[in-house]
Amino acid sequence: QARKRFGQNFLHDPGVIERIVRSIAPKPDQSIVEIGPGLGAITEEILAVNPRLQVVELDRDLIPILRTKFFNYPEFRIHQADALKFDFNELVGEQPLRIIGNLPYNISTPLIFHLLAHSGVVKDMHFMLQKEVVQRMAAIPGDNNYGRLGIMTQYFCKVQPLFEVGPDAFRPAPKVDSFIVRLVPYVTLPHPAKDLGTLQAVVRSAFNARRKTLRKALGGFVTAAELQQLGINDGLRPENLGLADYVAIADYLVTRVPSADIEAPGAGNE
Ligand code: SAM
Repeated sequence: QARKRFGQNFLHDPGVIERIVRSIAPKPDQSIVEIGPGLGAITEEILAVNPRLQVVELDRDLIPILRTKFFNYPEFRIHQADALKFDFNELVGEQPLRIIGNLPYNISTPLIFHLLAHSGVVKDMHFMLQKEVVQRMAAIPGDNNYGRLGIMTQYFCKVQPLFEVGPDAFRPAPKVDSFIVRLVPYVTLPHPAKDLGTLQAVVRSAFNARRKTLRKALGGFVTAAELQQLGINDGLRPENLGLADYVAIADYLVTRVPSADIEAPGAGNE
């Protein structure tokens, strides 16, 4: 019996499972981690190639089922844990991690943000997600669904949407279409920000007011004159600005001399 609160939709279509595993292309000596193995549909195919696979599964009731099913793989490790809180750095050995999973759709966005924070130790990630989420991840400036998820995913990773999977491949069938995506973290970030937290704050603020002009949406951070000084048209909307421009704004904020220091000569002098 699949549990709704854990976002459980189990894959049962052998053709789809095979196609997913073929795109992952697991090798015996790699460090592979699966999030949410469920009843082990993908797990089984990966284990056949990589018997040291590790999995992170939240649902306690699935653990004995997985143990029994894969008892003949002594190196298979099950972590009964919440992937949202799991420190993936713990699993890193000599090899960078390959993370895979048919993710629970109800927590996919926070989970992606959590995983992006681990990009430094990750070789690549292959996920099954709701199709709209993959479209948001891959969106470029001007697209309707371009926003925080796309910008932050593309800050860390190359995003490659691979193929669509219809509801019939799962039991129970979800109400949405799904898509397989490959994320490859950059070894050298194309647009590194001086301070990641500042970039995140700027992007969050911008897309909280995505219908407004940049001048209004970022009014708490920069003036229209400062945007112009950065070569950014302050009349544009947040959805028209690319990652490089968001990084430029964030970097400007980090290096800007606080105006109080300029306007209050003598302040702080004894
Ligand atoms: N991989 C299986 C498959 O393809 O058939 C199951 C996929 S199902 C969509 C999502 C799985 O993630 C379920 O097994 C569910 O129990 C598990 N899960 C849900 N929330 C989780 C969390 N926070 N951390 C780890 N696993 C979670």
